[in-house]
Amino acid sequence: MTAQIINGKQIAADMREELKAEVAKLKKQGIVPGLGVILVGDDPASKSYVTAKERTCAEIGVYSDDNRLPADTSQKDLMALVKRMNKAPEINGILVQLPLPKGLNEAEVLLAIDPAKDVDGFHPINVGKMMVGEKAFLPCTPHGIIQLLIRSGVTIEGADVVIVGRSNIVGKPLANMLIQKQPNRNATVTVCHTRTRNLAHHTRQADIVIAAAGRPNTVTADMIKDGAVVIDVGVNRVDDPTKKKGYRLVGDVDFEAVKEKASLITPVPGGVGPMTITMLMYNTIESAKRAAGLAK
Ligand code: NAP
Repeated sequence: MTAQIINGKQIAADMREELKAEVAKLKKQGIVPGLGVILVGDDPASKSYVTAKERTCAEIGVYSDDNRLPADTSQKDLMALVKRMNKAPEINGILVQLPLPKGLNEAEVLLAIDPAKDVDGFHPINVGKMMVGEKAFLPCTPHGIIQLLIRSGVTIEGADVVIVGRSNIVGKPLANMLIQKQPNRNATVTVCHTRTRNLAHHTRQADIVIAAAGRPNTVTADMIKDGAVVIDVGVNRVDDPTKKKGYRLVGDVDFEAVKEKASLITPVPGGVGPMTITMLMYNTIESAKRAAGLAK
């Protein structure tokens, strides 16, 4: 079997068109969703993520308040900026690009964000609400993965899902979201990590394998059952002298071999990545609707 490729770029583009139309409708009612963006320092990867987020805001019609601060910004100044954004009515979502430079207290900054503007879904209040199945801002990457599955026609209900990775931004929230007693959830989930005794034993049973380990070739063809759905979250740089930059991006899955066994598979790049920013836009628009009393 050769897998069908899940085109994350196209699915994200379709969702962005829907969001653009929604923003246009909101603007007619005088509502302009706004995202406050904070980037501290000049880490090249963080800079390119923030630029992509701002570009997407412009594409969809979301106002973005761009704040690029020097690496030696004090904790006090950073906290003051977050507090100003908490109060600013034109800002519905606050995004602090992580990681922060050494010396800054990330946990303190994230805790200071008003949970009603926590569009990354990292505040403990939102994490707790998500866990008990209450309405909350869902973290963007796991939410994007679930949207990819749904929009590709994958049945999540009752599926055996194996997640490789237990980070606070991908593995743990994704597991939590998938086990909720809700439509398009209700999966049976196993979460694997570096202390898992026999990773292949688990992945071979799975209808859906989601790799979020941050290590190339963590999932190989012998670890997948015929017809499984494979979602690759990993983004890894591997040296490639044939490329201008000297490297190329690969996921955590041995794509070429696994695609001959899976029924559906995401590529890297062009799979999960484009969905993450799209879900950030979704949360910001949702927050604007809540602030205007148009959503709960
Ligand atoms: P992370 O914090 O480094 O966590 C990696 C997890 O994978 C850990 O739980 C680790 O186990 C587990 N792991 C690592 N190697 C393993 C192995 N050989 N077998 C089993 N488990 C293994 O990473 P993350 O932040 O979740 O990100 C994971 C990957 O997704 C990275 O490549 C990242 O760049 C990518 N990512 C992509 C997006 C996107 O939008 N496309 C968003 C977020 C992350 P332990 O807990 O035991 O250490």
